[in-house]
Amino acid sequence: MLTNNLGYPRIGSNRELKKACESYWAGKISADELLATGATIRKQNWQLQAETGIDLIPSNDFSFYDQVLDLSLTLGVIPKRYQELAKTNSAIDLYFAMARGSQKEGQDVVAMEMTKWFDTNYHYIVPEFTKDQEFKLFSEKIIDEFKEANALGIATKPVLIGPVSYLLLGKEKEAGFHRIDLIEKLLPVYFEILQKLENENVEWIQFDEPFLALNLTDKERNAITYVYNEINKRFPKIKLILANYFDCFGENLSTVLALPVHTLHLDLVRCQSQLDDILESGQLSSNVSLSLGVVDGRNIWKNDFKNSLAIIKKATDALGEDRILIAPSCSLIHSPCDLELETNNATLTPEIKQWLAFAKQKTEEVVLLKYFASNEIDVSNSIRFQENTVANENRKTSTLIHNDAVKNRVASITTGDDQRENPFSIRRKKQIDVLDLPLFPTTTIGSFPQTTEVRSWRAKFKKGELNQQQYDDLIKKETEETIRFQEETGIDVLVHGEFERNDMVEYFGEQLDGFTFTKNGWVQSYGSRCVKPPVIYGDVSRPNPMTVKWSSFAQSLTPKWVKGMLTGPVTILQWSFVRNDQPRSETCTQIALAIRDEVVDLENAGIKIIQIDEPAIREGLPLRKEDWTTYLDWAVKAFRISASGVKDDTQIHTHMCYSEFNDIIQNIADMDADVITIECSRSQMELLDAFADFNYPNEIGPGVYDIHSPRVPSSTEMVRLLEKASAVIPVDQLWVNPDCGLKTRHWDETKKALIEMVAAAQQMRIAVENIATV
Ligand code: GLN
Ligand code: ZN
Repeated sequence: MLTNNLGYPRIGSNRELKKACESYWAGKISADELLATGATIRKQNWQLQAETGIDLIPSNDFSFYDQVLDLSLTLGVIPKRYQELAKTNSAIDLYFAMARGSQKEGQDVVAMEMTKWFDTNYHYIVPEFTKDQEFKLFSEKIIDEFKEANALGIATKPVLIGPVSYLLLGKEKEAGFHRIDLIEKLLPVYFEILQKLENENVEWIQFDEPFLALNLTDKERNAITYVYNEINKRFPKIKLILANYFDCFGENLSTVLALPVHTLHLDLVRCQSQLDDILESGQLSSNVSLSLGVVDGRNIWKNDFKNSLAIIKKATDALGEDRILIAPSCSLIHSPCDLELETNNATLTPEIKQWLAFAKQKTEEVVLLKYFASNEIDVSNSIRFQENTVANENRKTSTLIHNDAVKNRVASITTGDDQRENPFSIRRKKQIDVLDLPLFPTTTIGSFPQTTEVRSWRAKFKKGELNQQQYDDLIKKETEETIRFQEETGIDVLVHGEFERNDMVEYFGEQLDGFTFTKNGWVQSYGSRCVKPPVIYGDVSRPNPMTVKWSSFAQSLTPKWVKGMLTGPVTILQWSFVRNDQPRSETCTQIALAIRDEVVDLENAGIKIIQIDEPAIREGLPLRKEDWTTYLDWAVKAFRISASGVKDDTQIHTHMCYSEFNDIIQNIADMDADVITIECSRSQMELLDAFADFNYPNEIGPGVYDIHSPRVPSSTEMVRLLEKASAVIPVDQLWVNPDCGLKTRHWDETKKALIEMVAAAQQMRIAVENIATV
């Protein structure tokens, strides 16, 4: 039995990689210094895994920005606009230019597109393919890193994304072909890589084909068969592990079982039934081994050894120990690095800490499981086994986790709880009477610029350099100035600016029971950007109002309406580490009830318009289409529970951004928010077509300018977009607002842009009046 790791976090335990990259971009360190930091991280990771007892240690899992971009360079998939740069720049500068765009010495090229890696919060750089795409071995990173580890005395298992998934991850940049048609041209470069690795005496290699967890076409499935047969023909001696993760193989299973590979890696956390399916199918060839992904690579919970050992035993009984590898479910880049660095006992109490395992601890779990399963360590004498049992027992029964009041409340939810008193048509009339807003009402999405100054107040407050009173006074001053600016600009529905918030999920998590936070639990999101998701460990409830103080304060300053601002239950769930001891839907419902109470409290405090943001609703969609309905049912219901406690004349808004809405438009309508604001301007309102074709019944604010750019759009541009919008949506349903929150922008450009936006709304009103009088 061997232990197998699929990938190790490359950010460094103290985010060394982030710091080095950002210093390099700022011109503070040299390329050599940056490269040296990379080498140090790789060495530490390899040595740590070797010392822990991992047999198959990954290499080429390191990346300065993204592993898909690494592979694009490896395969010479460099879009035309960078080819000039490629001649004059160093390899690393070309690489960063592709990742981030580059403006220097008269060159100005935009970055490549970035998108989410399956259902994770990791973002990869999307390969761009042309019809006559050529492939050639351009970077030898994978071979270099294999040799680098060899020089340290560590024989690694190079990992790379398989050719089918690589093509499917990309996009066609011109019409007239499907990227999967490029497979025959692409494969020879993979052969070249394998040949070079074989020349270096590679024994194991891992090909990731995560698309095997998705619904594939016949053509795509045939490409899988073709690729792995061709590879096996040429390199029969290399032990190839074909890795799939994040879901079952589904209808791809029989294709996979017929492949001439050495080992299949299974994600037994996301798809428990897979092992039984394979063993019972009788189709597993007698020379194929299984890598059992029993340790959760996507979450922070300690493994349950008893449970994992039962699974391993089932497999060894059927296949024998020689054909079994023990592994995490997927690459550990989705886990924080090291639990030992969590020393803040006040927030992450010892009781909770004992339930957790980060990447380093997960590799230890994998190794221990091997020793237990092969009887090299007797479980009955093992302190580590006992510790694990005690921790898991404690978690099951801890009073920190279980709150009967919450459970009872969830159990007694009735049908009416997810419904407003009356349908939208009736609510709308009441809202028009009470709110008295003009046509094309203007608003923003919530946050105003989070300047370095605002952030420094929070840092000082946390360190105790400012007391509560001083901190509150500063936030009050900033809020008041923002209210005055909005009044002067003539915005119709104001916001308080969210200056008191660090992050739209953390802010709520900090005030809800059942949540805790790590000090150093960073996970790479994209490039040098890392996130530190909150940990939901127990039943969620809201001991006190969370936003009423600031919303009421802002409302007290002005006769105009100030919108209350909340993060929705699905987004809070989606952007946290979630409990694995109950279904996600259950946790989501608990959060929904907490948000519902907040909505009602805001209403009671005189807030008539309340926005519940759900930017993450789309990204929670399961990978397989057949699982969508179940998810959408509970997710939409959770939103409705959170929004339905208020009277008809209280207006509920929601906000979504940066997602594809077309295929879930019915579900978005089912959320029944009175107003939805969505990001649209980058696609020049194309997104609105979905809402128009569908006949979206409620009000819509399509974003009229892109907040990700410092560029100030003119009122004329925005009028043009609004005209496009009013061609497909009745004018009395339209709102005018930016794409998303303004927290990453500077005041200067924000002010100018909003003045233009209000002018655009006014022009639209005049135009409509003129039509009416004609
Ligand atoms: N209300 C939030 C803000 O304006 C919404 C952010 C988001 O959509 N991600 O910052
Ligand atoms: Zn947004």
